[in-house]
Amino acid sequence: MPDIAIGVDIGGTNIRAALVSDRGEILTKLSERTPTDPLQVLERVIAMARQLDRPDVAGIGLGIPGRVDVANREILSGGILNLAGLNFAERIEAAIGKRVVVENDCSMALIAEMRIGGAKGYRNVAMLTIGTGIGGAVAHAGSIYHGHRAAGQLGHICVSQDGPPCPCGRRGCVETFSSGTALRRHIAEAGLSAATVGEVFDLAAAGNDDARRVLRQWAAPLRAALDNIAATMDPEVILLGGGLGCDAARALADLPAVAPWFCPAILPAKLADDAGVIGAGLSIFGNAGGAAEKHVVLVNGVPASGKSRLAKALSERTGWPILSLDGIKNPFLQHIGPVDRDFNRTLGKASYQAIWSFIADAPASSTFIVDAWFGFQPKAQLEAYIADAKIARVAELWCKVPGTVAGERYASRLKDRLPGHPGAEYVQELVALADRAEPMSCGAVMTIDQTKELDMDAVVAWVSQVFGGS
Ligand SMILES: [Zn+2]
Repeated sequence: MPDIAIGVDIGGTNIRAALVSDRGEILTKLSERTPTDPLQVLERVIAMARQLDRPDVAGIGLGIPGRVDVANREILSGGILNLAGLNFAERIEAAIGKRVVVENDCSMALIAEMRIGGAKGYRNVAMLTIGTGIGGAVAHAGSIYHGHRAAGQLGHICVSQDGPPCPCGRRGCVETFSSGTALRRHIAEAGLSAATVGEVFDLAAAGNDDARRVLRQWAAPLRAALDNIAATMDPEVILLGGGLGCDAARALADLPAVAPWFCPAILPAKLADDAGVIGAGLSIFGNAGGAAEKHVVLVNGVPASGKSRLAKALSERTGWPILSLDGIKNPFLQHIGPVDRDFNRTLGKASYQAIWSFIADAPASSTFIVDAWFGFQPKAQLEAYIADAKIARVAELWCKVPGTVAGERYASRLKDRLPGHPGAEYVQELVALADRAEPMSCGAVMTIDQTKELDMDAVVAWVSQVFGGS
């Protein structure tokens, strides 16, 4: 049985609520018109959550239109529908008796898009939802970025200081030029007889200059905002969602980025109206990007096969911590002094066990890099540790070197080895071991030729594909 949560997406037009599995599947879905009175919205959300609730529901995620202080579960402001100052989360928690998480609605949509939608496999993403207004959300290193309280208000990037007034109190925010509301204004001001953006595209394709100008008025400020996002946070991709996300991406295609430094990759969101409820449900299980799963990268290879250098380079690129067998064992060797090979092996086994007990105790959203010569213990032992630690995905980087190279490297480092590590007598043994050693193959394996330059771009891309794919 998968874990289940209730996701609620409160929009200006509809309230959507759904039972969502920890894999992002919708099991049951409800939808109602949104009342205009905030207290009635609260009542309807409680009624919908009651209808969906069952004993195995882990909690309720709420996507809120407006700025949200996630840590304090406080709604700071809203637009047309303003739910601030109602103790929304506390009142729903009291009514249903389940844990409640609140988050900005666009952040919830981004959680879903990173897990199973248009940004799957990416860890640094910005998203804009283009509808009545423009919502925004940012993910950094796989998690929603909140800044001090409510970061990611990308609809309020100013693109013209003397532009139209914005509900935020300033003028010329991108929302005032490039939202659906603004598009209707551009159409009316041009005197164009078009009821939908599709009709504007048709007129423009037929050579209508007014229609072309309307599309430019709508999309050019958005292009400026996207370039600003690229300049300030350099995401891997920017997703365009909401009812007009695909149309905005189409209009932008005629307006390439102007600055050679800042050319963001722009993708349409994939989950349409369901993104909000799916992300709201997933928010109960962890954070964005499928991070509710625990992952490990095994950096494996015989002694002197270049594991530590690779593990360090991967850690620098991803921010994931390294647990290395020698990192745990060596302090013991320093304190105990010279030991024989049997005792060295016992220390190795204990250090190995310590690594997996750290990982087992870590939260579900963790990713670790484990640097060890795994072949010194049986595969069945490793499989048991992986199962006990509830690790969802394993990526193994297999450091391959010819025996002679490993032997030479080991011999050249003998003077730096701590007493207790095998000495010169081990070199011949290592040469033979390196030639016959194999990866553990408890998950996906990438073989790294350690006689060549490391291609870290390829390594990082492969690992994120293993962890991002389902
Ligand atoms: Zn604004």
